Amino acid sequence: MRDKKVILITGASSGMGREAALKLLREGHTVYGAARRIEKMQNLVQAGGSAIELDVTDEAEVVACVKQLIAEQGKIDVLVNNAGYAVYGAVEDVTLADAKRQFDVNLFGLARLTQVVLPHMRQQKSGRIINISSVGGKVYTPLGAWYHATKHALEGWSDCLRLELKPFHIDVVIVEPGAIATEFGDVMCNPMLKRSAGGPYDEMAQQIADSTRRTYEKGDSSPASVIADFIAKIVKTRRPKTRYAKGEYAKPLLFMRKWLSDRSFDKVIMSRVK
Ligand code: NAP
Repeated sequence: MRDKKVILITGASSGMGREAALKLLREGHTVYGAARRIEKMQNLVQAGGSAIELDVTDEAEVVACVKQLIAEQGKIDVLVNNAGYAVYGAVEDVTLADAKRQFDVNLFGLARLTQVVLPHMRQQKSGRIINISSVGGKVYTPLGAWYHATKHALEGWSDCLRLELKPFHIDVVIVEPGAIATEFGDVMCNPMLKRSAGGPYDEMAQQIADSTRRTYEKGDSSPASVIADFIAKIVKTRRPKTRYAKGEYAKPLLFMRKWLSDRSFDKVIMSRVK
């Protein structure tokens, strides 16, 4: 294949990361998937890819992951920073330890991996970094302060990175998924309900859990393949845009956020949480 790329994708054990890894393999690329649950990446290995056990917050594992890939392939063309999760709960209820862990995974882990990959891309004078943000990097929801803080931060961080990497011909692309049916909702809701149980935010947490489940379980969301197909397109295209919004609710939410006042947008968001 002429345009065969060497690709590292984090969070490949589930959801859109797994779908994207499989799609990229089918398209003929060399794909390394990385996640903590290596056993959940067996399908990727069976399909001809490689799986690396990686917690993005573990410095030694991050360095070892890139070292292995470079030793085996000699280069890295595309890094898809997809691993992430949502800490939900009232600001009063989420411990700072949980909040810091949220930033460690969604921002600092991703940043460290990027730092380790960049010298190789600079040497090659080419590369593409695709950061999976969220429509939640532009909008906000109740009890989502820490999650949204990480994704809003990722948006600004990625914009700065794009500017400084331009002279080295390395692209930075932001993807803002809307509601996508993955493990994301369960990972978010169960700890939130536990944190809020019996406290002043209990009822709000129940409502958010109900509306989240309605969204993810009742078909009010897009399949992970929508984002996977899109990532494959970004890998292929010669000149990608700086950011893309894709999946259920993504574009309408961004449109409303742009044109409505804060108070009107608050009403729209709260009307969903009932
Ligand atoms: P998912 O099914 O829960 O997948 C999350 C992936 O992240 C898993 O493979 C998980 O693997 C990995 N991960 C979590 N913590 C990690 C860590 N410390 N080190 C390495 N890997 C870690 O959720 P998803 O929806 O596909 O999420 C993918 C990305 O999309 C996330 O960044 C999320 O914020 C974003 N997003 C999701 C939605 C949505 O509606 N689903 C919307 C907007 C944005 P292990 O547990 O095996 O480590």
